[in-house]
Amino acid sequence: MAKVIIKKANYENLSQIIQEIFEVFPIDLHSKNVFIKPNLVRPAVPEKAATTHPALVKAIAEEVKRGGGRPWIGDNGIDIQTLYEVTEMEKTCAPYMVNISKEAKLFEIGGYRVPISSFFVDMDIFINVPKLKTHQLAGMTCCLKNPFGLIPGNFKSRMHALSGHAKKLTEFFVDLYRWRIPDLNVVDGILGMEGDGPSFGTPREVGRIIAGKDGIAVDAVCARMIGFENPRNIKLIDLAEKKGLGQFDLNHLQVEGPFEVIGNFVHPSTYTANIPGKKSPFAPDLEKYLQGWNQLGRVMPVCNEALCTRCEDCLSACPSEAIGIEPQPKIDPEKCLSCFCCVEVCKEKVFIIPMQELQERRIRMGM
Ligand code: SF4
Ligand code: SF4
Repeated sequence: MAKVIIKKANYENLSQIIQEIFEVFPIDLHSKNVFIKPNLVRPAVPEKAATTHPALVKAIAEEVKRGGGRPWIGDNGIDIQTLYEVTEMEKTCAPYMVNISKEAKLFEIGGYRVPISSFFVDMDIFINVPKLKTHQLAGMTCCLKNPFGLIPGNFKSRMHALSGHAKKLTEFFVDLYRWRIPDLNVVDGILGMEGDGPSFGTPREVGRIIAGKDGIAVDAVCARMIGFENPRNIKLIDLAEKKGLGQFDLNHLQVEGPFEVIGNFVHPSTYTANIPGKKSPFAPDLEKYLQGWNQLGRVMPVCNEALCTRCEDCLSACPSEAIGIEPQPKIDPEKCLSCFCCVEVCKEKVFIIPMQELQERRIRMGM
């Protein structure tokens, strides 16, 4: 029977709570490389509740260290330096932060060829530390969706278009989760997000840490806590169970701690999946919507050829062999995955993300 524990918490009293969580869910940390994955969806200060709070991530890293492991913390994004600074991860967790966007490897996941940060691939243990948030399309984002951040740069946008349908994308999330099942999930539900999340919803005090080894069970408990009557209303949980990934029947879970429904938790105005009779407002414009994602995912770095020193770092960083450096650095648009690893790895700043173009396309997408 899967076990989920819920702890009342605030950001000032985390060490003891994290220690207790590791006692309930023991992991052999000794001499292991342990990757701790927060949700850093955008460069936003912790008070906006878009990102996992650095105090929680730090408490987990210190517990890993206490247990003899080597903690590493990272997430992907566009412009990692700004992301780590604004989210206060750099300031709070400096010794453990790592830029995982510098290199990727391609893997076959759910029928797609997907770049995954190479740094993550070499880790022994994976601790998933999502934020408890609503999601306009998925209803809720938590343990099952957080591994999407293992994909670098802008390829995540491309995945929306490649999948071609919300259901297919949901299936991909499940396949990605199954590709590397976390060893432990610790949800930052202290300051959650309600309304039209996951990036620009409204912060909501919940005051809970929710943890467990089975991410589906943890997500099911979180869904119920934020007022989804049946976890099956969250398509991602429903699909994960149908694919045999875990247990979400609340009657068959061992839940310890204050398991209460948070009153009047505001759900996304757009979320309709699995609710009979309700149609998604995205459905009539699906083609236009997918075109938008496709264009967003096609933004490639531009080259400033004159700066190149022929060091070849970009050649090993690029997961799809899209770069040639002779006689000048050049990207093959047919092969480029928009992962932006070349941007992160090139010390000479030969590759640059066309931020204005990216921003304009994001605005057109309403992001
Ligand atoms: S990493 Fe930069 S400097 Fe080195 S070969 Fe590639 S483009 Fe040139
Ligand atoms: S050329 Fe394209 S695929 Fe290769 S590292 Fe750069 S952005 Fe990624």
